[in-house]
Amino acid sequence: MRIFYTDTFPIPLPENHSFPKDKYYLLRKHVSERLCDKPIDLQIPEISSVESILRAHDVEYVRRLFEGELTDKEIRRVGLPWSPQIVKRTLYSVGATIAACRAAISDGVAVNLGGGTHHAFRDHGQGFCWLNDSVIAARAIQAEGLAKNILIVDCDVHQGDGTAAIARDDPTIFTFSIHGKHNFPYHKETSDLDIEMENGMDDRTYLDALEKGLSASTHRFNADLVIFLAGADPYRKDRYGRLALTKVGLAQRDGLVLRHFKESGLPVAATMAGGYAPDIQDIVDIHLQTIGIALECYDENRTQTDGWKRKG
Ligand SMILES: [Zn+2]
Repeated sequence: MRIFYTDTFPIPLPENHSFPKDKYYLLRKHVSERLCDKPIDLQIPEISSVESILRAHDVEYVRRLFEGELTDKEIRRVGLPWSPQIVKRTLYSVGATIAACRAAISDGVAVNLGGGTHHAFRDHGQGFCWLNDSVIAARAIQAEGLAKNILIVDCDVHQGDGTAAIARDDPTIFTFSIHGKHNFPYHKETSDLDIEMENGMDDRTYLDALEKGLSASTHRFNADLVIFLAGADPYRKDRYGRLALTKVGLAQRDGLVLRHFKESGLPVAATMAGGYAPDIQDIVDIHLQTIGIALECYDENRTQTDGWKRKG
């Protein structure tokens, strides 16, 4: 299973910044150590092209982002300091989601060890997100003729507001977001399907709602490819989560999503999205669960006599 990583391109942050950037490096380390006996293929992706980015973003915003001309206010809204290095990292991170989509179409499932920057809007960034990798990747895959209809399943605890806004009038992208009702972003956009969770929701309530959302999404939309944002922040100990999911519940979530689409014969590209538990190992553990379940699906595809074949 192809797993794309970009942590080798540093994110320069001041000491004590709240963003847990080390999770990316630690996740790759644990993947390569703990899953070394599994069929994993860790790769650095190609950088995203500007042409791809401009299918989802405003040309003037992208120019100012590249050239360091964003205002202090715009940069504060993202919450990460601007630097040429962070732009480079972002381009690789977007490239990783595009690469994971391509790999998923050929292999059934693939992973980006980052990505899920769903708060980026067409003409501005926010909430640790500069560019919207999901929409950029969806449209790149469409432009390459590899898929027509893309379903974005966003299980990060925060609503995929940027994704919903950019894809609002695009009938070829269906956005499903399951998220905390009383959490950032406080102004919600309208996804094709939104499911809102009250504070403190537990595993059972969440999983029941998710299952209904998955069925509704596949019923309403005839997808060729799924992009799955497997955020670690619905976890009960997450600093910004406000829900009460356990690690077991999060593994069940990943199983529900990945099995649902495997049974439908749909390829899935998984991205990691948010995760802010005080103990960084918790974040890594939750992402490792996602990758482990994706690997099970990959293995089953591989061992089928006719290999991975979409039911299409
Ligand atoms: Zn989040």
